[in-house]
Amino acid sequence: MPPVLDPALWPSTALVDEAGVVAVGGVPVTDLVAEHGSPLYVLDEADLRSRARAYREAFVAAFAEIGAEVDVYYAGKAFLSVAVARWMHEEGLRIDTATGGELAVALRAGVPGAEIGLHGNNKSDEELERALAAGVGRIVLDSLEEVVRVAAAARARGVRAPVMVRVTTGVHAGGHEYISTAHEDQKFGLSIAGGQAERALHAVLQHPELELVGIHSHIGSQILDPAGFEEAARRILELRATLATTTGHLVPEVDLGGGYGIAYLPGEVPIDPQQVARDVARTVAAVCRTQGTSVPRISIEPGRAVVGPAGITVYTVGTVKPVTFTDEDESPRTRTYVSVDGGMSDNLRPALYGARYHAVLASRGSVADAVTSRVVGKHCESGDVVVHEVELPVDIARGDLLAVPATGAYGRSMASNYNMVPRPPVVAVRDGDARVLVRRETEDDLLALDLG
Ligand SMILES: *Cc1c(COP(=O)(O)O)cnc(C)c1O
Repeated sequence: MPPVLDPALWPSTALVDEAGVVAVGGVPVTDLVAEHGSPLYVLDEADLRSRARAYREAFVAAFAEIGAEVDVYYAGKAFLSVAVARWMHEEGLRIDTATGGELAVALRAGVPGAEIGLHGNNKSDEELERALAAGVGRIVLDSLEEVVRVAAAARARGVRAPVMVRVTTGVHAGGHEYISTAHEDQKFGLSIAGGQAERALHAVLQHPELELVGIHSHIGSQILDPAGFEEAARRILELRATLATTTGHLVPEVDLGGGYGIAYLPGEVPIDPQQVARDVARTVAAVCRTQGTSVPRISIEPGRAVVGPAGITVYTVGTVKPVTFTDEDESPRTRTYVSVDGGMSDNLRPALYGARYHAVLASRGSVADAVTSRVVGKHCESGDVVVHEVELPVDIARGDLLAVPATGAYGRSMASNYNMVPRPPVVAVRDGDARVLVRRETEDDLLALDLG
């Protein structure tokens, strides 16, 4: 029986033919592996572009209703390459970067500096100088000392730097939970409750080299309950109104960050961009009305929701091993460990966050019974898990291909060379064609760094 692909998890062009072979963008994964090797990341260009458009169009439409304009910044850290930056630019998105390296990719893609933002809690002098030289549209300040450093760098260049101040609202969300207090004990931003946010905003206004273009908040990632976005928006808009009262400066823009959650497992329901855009627009309108302020320009920064479901990883099965153990009730159990030719070096999220994924046999159909399996990598760590628990055909064997959906975000971008494993390529597919965006690393690449 060919697997049934849950449309919430897979790129929109993914399908399974009668032989049980999974294809994306019109290219069977068997062909992709034959041509580009295994493991590999596959990115569905049409799907990626349509998710970018869906976020932009949903937010532009919802905020047009309340008289506000919207900019959508693609959070490049989720996955950035020159082609992807170019596609995002073509779809009308801007690019968020958090390091000099991400900035370099966006600039190489030809994204105008004015449409790039720079984040980071510990930007180097060199990164700040490169950002100013590129004329970035915004530098998001993350500490009081950075106010002074960016002002000095701008003065030295004889420019006025557009800046936002990143604040923590006390709303911190992720997964299903959403907790409205505490959670300020982390490295990002300046706390509203603690008064640091207001102090930083005042400090920016006292520096003529800085132009205060906005207040920024990013409340977390993989958020499936949109209430957190609304509560954070409310708190920022109240801060904006307070600042207007105390200084006469009404900040023109509010950035609500990213974090829109996607489906990783069958049955999970991703955030609907139209729904969240409407909900947040309604809250923004209501709070501004109560505060007696005009509605600001809005920006958002989705990363995962744009690129996550557009990407899959294809692995080749190696060792298959039944493991017997006793569970907590002392009853004997068997689990099938299916080893693949990658692991935590190409997808760190299970080891880092206990993230759960799904997988299917992608190179053939099988009528065999399903058994509870765990897909593991080839690294020297027992935590090197790719898929914690999934039903796979009992006849799964060496040489079969496994496809893991929803790996487009934070897969390649967090990849490492642990165990001296070269990182897999990123191959884009569209209309039956495949094109390598990032080539496979080789052992020679790794050895070239080693000066002996
Ligand atoms: C990580 C990050 C994002 C993107 O988060 P996603 O969960 O990928 O949407 C946006 N803004 C900032 C500041 C971030 O750090």
